Amino acid sequence: MDEGEPVSIWPYTTRRWERVRQQKMMRDPLCEACLTVGEIVPAEVVDHRKPITKEGREKRSAAEAFPPLDKLASLCASHHNAKTRAEQRGEDTGAKAAIFSGGQTIPTTIGTRMPPRIVDRS
Ligand SMILES: [Zn+2]
Repeated sequence: MDEGEPVSIWPYTTRRWERVRQQKMMRDPLCEACLTVGEIVPAEVVDHRKPITKEGREKRSAAEAFPPLDKLASLCASHHNAKTRAEQRGEDTGAKAAIFSGGQTIPTTIGTRMPPRIVDRS
């Protein structure tokens, strides 16, 4: 771990994270948020369901950074972006609860761009 790296990108630049990410992707290769609404979309990123706390980052907490795979989420780019935006706006709890509650749709308030669907307008 380089001392000069910004704290905010830890642990995503570590080899350990890369291993954890690959394990998660092999186990859950599809976007979990899309699956809750019946969409089959390949995951592109692995993310923490519960963001690493500021304290956790400062202490380089392995327990927070490299949790069991169940505590991680495979997401498509669209859902990852939506979640990240929600977190940045301080909406983490509600937005992520909605994304991962299982079977629930994503609130439109977080601006999620859903994958295209075939709509029969005839
Ligand atoms: Zn998705």
